Amino acid sequence: MQFIGTRTGAAGAVSASRAILRGLAESGGLYVPERFPSFSLSDIDGMREMTYAQRAVRVLRAFLEDFSEEELQAAVGAAYGSFDDPRVAPLRPVREGVSALELYHGPTLAFKDMALQLLPHLMTLSMKKNAEAREVFILVATSGDTGKAALAGFADVPGTRCAVFYPQAGVSEAQRLQMVTQRGDNTHVIAVRGNFDDAQTGVKRIFADADFAAAMDAQGRVLSSANSINFGRLVPQVVYYFSAYADLLRAGTILLGDPVNFCVPTGNFGNILAAEYARRCGLPIGRLLCASNGNNVLADFMETGRYDISGRAFYRTISPSMDILISSNLERLLFELCGRDPKQVRGWMEALRTGSRYDIGNKNLCAMRAVFAGGFTDDAGTREEIRRTYAEDGYLMDPHTAVASHVLRAYQEQTGDRTPSVIVSTASPYKFGRPVLEAIAGTQAAEGLDDFGCCGVLAARTGTRVPPQIAELPTMPVRHKRVCEKDRMEEALLEALSGKNGM
Ligand SMILES: *Cc1c(COP(=O)(O)O)cnc(C)c1O
Repeated sequence: MQFIGTRTGAAGAVSASRAILRGLAESGGLYVPERFPSFSLSDIDGMREMTYAQRAVRVLRAFLEDFSEEELQAAVGAAYGSFDDPRVAPLRPVREGVSALELYHGPTLAFKDMALQLLPHLMTLSMKKNAEAREVFILVATSGDTGKAALAGFADVPGTRCAVFYPQAGVSEAQRLQMVTQRGDNTHVIAVRGNFDDAQTGVKRIFADADFAAAMDAQGRVLSSANSINFGRLVPQVVYYFSAYADLLRAGTILLGDPVNFCVPTGNFGNILAAEYARRCGLPIGRLLCASNGNNVLADFMETGRYDISGRAFYRTISPSMDILISSNLERLLFELCGRDPKQVRGWMEALRTGSRYDIGNKNLCAMRAVFAGGFTDDAGTREEIRRTYAEDGYLMDPHTAVASHVLRAYQEQTGDRTPSVIVSTASPYKFGRPVLEAIAGTQAAEGLDDFGCCGVLAARTGTRVPPQIAELPTMPVRHKRVCEKDRMEEALLEALSGKNGM
């Protein structure tokens, strides 16, 4: 199967391994499969008794045709072996008709591990298949979770190097320490004096800089991306929707062919897009609920078909990984909605760039609303949802997951839709110990405590355990101290590569 670009169509078709190596398609578009592989109900039934790794190989193989079964088995085994739950992505009952799909059992405690533990293996295989002899240099701008997950995935992977830029004042203390204590001689972590948008803009500028690319080439390096624009990050996420369905079958919660609704806390639209891909492959999905926090541009889009960021304030919330205004993976959904018309997609993306908005029109809106519904809640609603779910159901959730839980509840009340539903749970509550503790015990419980103190109290009050990855952070040596101005990121990278002025 070939991969085509959302802005160029079949003209720029490449193999799966080439798409993974490149990251971004031509003319700034994203790679998508030329067609969706099809899974019959009996294929899906066949996954019921499989392990997560077996399910993963089954789904990955359908998309990544230039990878062999043996290669994928080895990659999947290495990727998910370090998870702290043998089921990798366990499904837990929360309340009547609602389960949580826990995607945070990987090394960095957020769902990014589901893809970023596998991507380095897919990347090195792709290098071999395309005779890429240069070192692949992964650049990442992060608002917190992606950076650590990419570092953990690529650390000490031969033939690769990973540099992460994070906003100096824009990440939580736990997130910062997770990154600056990262081991591995091929890792670089650089704080940017600016916000996440500054870091993101800087990385995009470096990707577009021909002189920088030439300098890297002269050093035997080629730049690539571990952002969710890379198809290699998307395809591992398709797996867990199949896996959740197979687990519901095995538990007897549903019968083969019954629809299931998924509610996904959304930022860059990567996670929920993977669910839509699973649906297009034949997985019986009823509705996909797109949950946003106070940055509710997607909820408005689902309602009106107008994506409009002009004059929109950017809020910092207690679910920071969803604080985003431009959801890059939405472009892949638009491509499907308009019947795979690259000219139409180019038009919308150009309108967004020049006028900060586009309108997909009534026909596309109806098609989208046949599957998707949007909803949002602010920080107060998020805290209340954490409190209520813990009090009523004994289930402890992080703020991102709570946004989804709230949106699902509101949707069910409004529509009366009682289809069995899955909340996609994207982070360990201990990654956000302060807001979670405040939600279940009141703000006074966190007074005078740092984030780690909050985690300790949270563990004591809930009878759960602080994950070792968090508990060990305050005593780990800081290995990365580099700081740069937002317009000096290229220089900082070159210095880091030459080993000058600190790690
Ligand atoms: C990245 C992230 C999200 C948003 O996922 P997208 O794929 O960007 O929609 C939600 N929750 C957590 C904890 C995350 O790290």
